[in-house]
Amino acid sequence: MSNPSLLILAGDGIGPEVMDEVKKIIAWFDAKRGLSFDISEDLVGGAAYDAHGTPLHDDTMAKAQEVDAVLLGAVGGPKYDELDFSVKPERGLLRLRKEMDLFANLRPAQCFDALADFSSLKPELISGLDIMIVRELTSGSYFGEPRGIFEEDGQRVGINTQRYTEAEIDRVARAAFDLARKRNNRVCSMEKANVMESGILWREVVQAVHDADYPDVELSHMYADNGGMQLVRNPKQFDVIVTDNLFGDLLSDVAAMLTGSLGMLPSASLGAPMENGRPKAMYEPVHGSAPDISGEGKANPSACILSFAMALRYSFDEGAEADRLEAAVEKVLADGVRTADLMQAEGGTPTSTSEMGAAILAALEASL
Ligand code: NAD
Repeated sequence: MSNPSLLILAGDGIGPEVMDEVKKIIAWFDAKRGLSFDISEDLVGGAAYDAHGTPLHDDTMAKAQEVDAVLLGAVGGPKYDELDFSVKPERGLLRLRKEMDLFANLRPAQCFDALADFSSLKPELISGLDIMIVRELTSGSYFGEPRGIFEEDGQRVGINTQRYTEAEIDRVARAAFDLARKRNNRVCSMEKANVMESGILWREVVQAVHDADYPDVELSHMYADNGGMQLVRNPKQFDVIVTDNLFGDLLSDVAAMLTGSLGMLPSASLGAPMENGRPKAMYEPVHGSAPDISGEGKANPSACILSFAMALRYSFDEGAEADRLEAAVEKVLADGVRTADLMQAEGGTPTSTSEMGAAILAALEASL
């Protein structure tokens, strides 16, 4: 049988810097755990625009459709700020998500004990936190038509449309229930059914999917604004949260900051199963290209490394190896190794990107 395939799209700014450390981790799993991947690499974002005049070449898109998983670094940077909207680096990312139909965006918010003091919330509220936000990613108000800026009665009107079909709600609800079964078996669905018809439909469909196929999973519903409050009041009450594209964008950022640093946050975007049973999948850190620190060796590679751990778990059914990698990151933090983003004001000498990668590799080696 051939090896599973990975397409690496490192992108711009710190993307290639953090991805270099991920490549070393992948090589370690190959050498020490017999987990081999067929790896190809290509350009995305500003790097692709510089080479091809488009943030995602058609050939790269075709490759992404064929592989078992895509690993992405980050895209964007000030150099591309003035480009037309249609060729901005982020369009490359959006095209990947849209054409691969990656409808479920998984964003864990997990607090490593060693970083509990780093959160803006009290350590007791945050220590041991482990929640997962499932955000619908390919529909809702970021895609709904009509959209645009129109003339009406002599003034301009900006319009976006919140639109969800039953099928779109159904499939993301199933993704959330499936995940919950592998975790603590609880799902909280968030919408604004009090003021939005799309929210009423969302609630009805999630409930119907639950009643038909997931009665064993505990389901609750919450208005999304209350959800935001509850996330900062008592985040540990949640296990899996499922919500739409717009609310998910906001709520996952709130949940993200519960844990302190963007440099620690991975994500997965999953679509329908392919012929081999694996879901279409792209894994990427939540952070962007961080132009303010790019090229300085300061970036924390953990978010990108933890994204690879998610790939091991959700694409390759290697949950035990994913646990091993996450435990290695946790061990390094517990040992006090810190990139600059993880340092409190008191100071100390920060660890560089490659030193952090090396420390995680050493922890992996020690786990054998
Ligand atoms: P950003 O995430 O790049 O950076 C925000 C802040 O967090 C910066 O101070 C940065 O130095 C810090 N930071 C981010 N990742 C870090 C890491 N791994 N280690 C240490 N510090 C880290 O967001 P931004 O500054 O708003 O955007 C910069 C560029 O990235 C823009 O062009 C934006 O469009 C793009 N962007 C891309 C993505 C993506 O590729 N998925 C996501 C967000 C922003």
